[in-house]
Amino acid sequence: MPFSARIGQVIEKVPEMSQANRPLVVGNWKMNGSRAALAELSAMGKGFDGELRSKLDLVICPPMTLVALAAQMAVGTGISIGAQNCHAKVSGAHTGDVSAEMLADIGAVAVMVGHSERRTDYKEKDADVRAKAEAVRRAGLMAVLCLGETKGEREAGKALSVVRRQLKESVPEGIPAHQLVIGYEPVWAIGTGLVPTAKDVEEVHALIRSNLKKLLVKGEGSKVRILYGGSVKPTNAKELLAVSNVDGLLVGGASLKAEDFLTIAGFYR
Ligand code: PEP
Repeated sequence: MPFSARIGQVIEKVPEMSQANRPLVVGNWKMNGSRAALAELSAMGKGFDGELRSKLDLVICPPMTLVALAAQMAVGTGISIGAQNCHAKVSGAHTGDVSAEMLADIGAVAVMVGHSERRTDYKEKDADVRAKAEAVRRAGLMAVLCLGETKGEREAGKALSVVRRQLKESVPEGIPAHQLVIGYEPVWAIGTGLVPTAKDVEEVHALIRSNLKKLLVKGEGSKVRILYGGSVKPTNAKELLAVSNVDGLLVGGASLKAEDFLTIAGFYR
């Protein structure tokens, strides 16, 4: 069956795990893990019990090599599988790349776009991020669109204007709320152990919410889930989740171990 014919099947999956303002915790495994690491996914599935499943959505984004296997393993656990990147086009002469439709085909439900490591390593710009988010939408999946200021931008008092610009230039016009999640990840907080104050997180998330209301079709902006990401650990997650307009978390390092990830998700009990 061609990819385009499968899109209809995939579209049905997104609303299932993506209800308006339902909390969401996403784990980004980055470039970590061989097949043995799927034991952690299995343990996460066991720990994601009925009570937790009724309270939040859980997505794991393993490296590309594990997406298909993880998606098969996750069936029946309540955990959904996402990818960390995709190409903007459906198919063609793009050696080494993978399209959103291909990810849908192997059971992914979400795709991260615009992670700061991709912006740095591959010089991805807001326009590239937007094209990828459009592709994710086209494939019927959910885009986890990451953005955030660098250390220099925060120190120069430009955090809010940078985030405003990133939203304006990378959020696809008219994208429905169930196909968009924003991950606010200050670049200086990723993998550093540094975390902004609750007040700073609240300020940026409020700005994201008000801008989404302006950018999206009426009513949709208030439904998009806004996640905080950057050095989230079991020791700081509870405080971050209490911040207004924080609808969940985007977790890197602490999502590699089931125990840590489940402790973080467990704050929703
Ligand atoms: C991330 O990679 O998106 C991330 C937030 O990483 P960490 O939690 O390790 O800072």
